[in-house]
Amino acid sequence: MSMLTIKNARIVDGSADAPTDPVDIVIEGDRFVAVGKGEAAKSGAGDTLDASGRIVMPGLIDCHVHVIATTANLGLNAELPNSWVALKSAELMKAMLMRGFTTVRDLGGADIGLKRAVDDGLIDAPRLIICGKALSQTGGHTDYRGAHSNRDVSWYGDKLGTLGRVCDGVDAVRRVAREELKNGADYVKVMADGGVSSPSDPIGYLVFSVDELKAIVEVAKGFGTYVSGHLYDDAAINRALDCGFECIEHGNNMSERTVRRVAEEEAFVVPTNITYDILAKEGAAFGLPPESVAKIEDVRTAGLECLTMLHREGVVMGYGSDLLGGMQPHQSGEFTLRGQFLPAMDVIRSATLDAARVVRRSDIGAIAPGCYADLLFVDGNPLDDLALLTEQGAHMPLIMKGGAAVKKAASV
Ligand SMILES: [Zn+2]
Repeated sequence: MSMLTIKNARIVDGSADAPTDPVDIVIEGDRFVAVGKGEAAKSGAGDTLDASGRIVMPGLIDCHVHVIATTANLGLNAELPNSWVALKSAELMKAMLMRGFTTVRDLGGADIGLKRAVDDGLIDAPRLIICGKALSQTGGHTDYRGAHSNRDVSWYGDKLGTLGRVCDGVDAVRRVAREELKNGADYVKVMADGGVSSPSDPIGYLVFSVDELKAIVEVAKGFGTYVSGHLYDDAAINRALDCGFECIEHGNNMSERTVRRVAEEEAFVVPTNITYDILAKEGAAFGLPPESVAKIEDVRTAGLECLTMLHREGVVMGYGSDLLGGMQPHQSGEFTLRGQFLPAMDVIRSATLDAARVVRRSDIGAIAPGCYADLLFVDGNPLDDLALLTEQGAHMPLIMKGGAAVKKAASV
């Protein structure tokens, strides 16, 4: 098996407010096998890299992406040919990898075919964690028909370009959840509130009945996994927690009381502020319909205010970008946006150690023996300047995924 030792690595992973003293990192095959002082001498043979003058970080994890969202017009995206969407998704994913994201969790759309293409090395892309299609009710967040059509939507399930499937009633939601898990979903995603990028669901719409939500949770837990909910509104979030949801996506409009409950019950929250910031600025130009543009401001400001509360109450947050189509190059902008409200150490941890907790993976997000050898070299210290993690990986001369360099500058 191939051996590689990285010498003089000063690690920043969000667990401390300063880089570690220089250590050696030993990689065997696709995993870290040793991290510490003097490990280079013990490991003996193999290639070496010197990280002197740079910072070494674990590969980043984005806990909320949509790799199949080739445009912000999700109704249009749903109609696109599967083959075209697959090829475009590969391009979008490669760009994520080149920004330093070695793992991404897809929150609706990506299927087992894309996941296998990544695992088999057919495409250069981040490790993919999927829910298959999200579950939405009629008139919910992935029902794109609007007020002018009741045409059948059973075809959504077979289109790669759809984020979700429409299902109503306890029996139907149970079957669809079971199907998605059968089809390789790692967890179940439920559109449990209204949303911005869909036509007929106001924010705060209590979608699905309590019985439907409980049935979905029962299926997921029975399978050994969890349910994550697309949620904004306080009442919707409390209802989802009552029903057993373990992860809250967005969470913009939470009251202080609800934030405390989330902390007490140790649920995870994945704020996605950058998407509202960019949607407000560029959404219309990128195809977001006018009825969606009108919903943005309600959630944008509240989401930023919520960050401070979540931090104060000790809620574990995952890094989330949630960008659609041509706005995806702003993926790393969540770092600097959160950095205006939270310490850099905590922002970084949301994309490393805490992100791994959110996506339930103990083998990523850390530079530690047994974990996948996903790491970055950064020119400069992101604890001092989070912008070093932006600009499409410009400050990352080395990006490694599973022990293989996917980017290596001549200076490394
Ligand atoms: Zn999303």
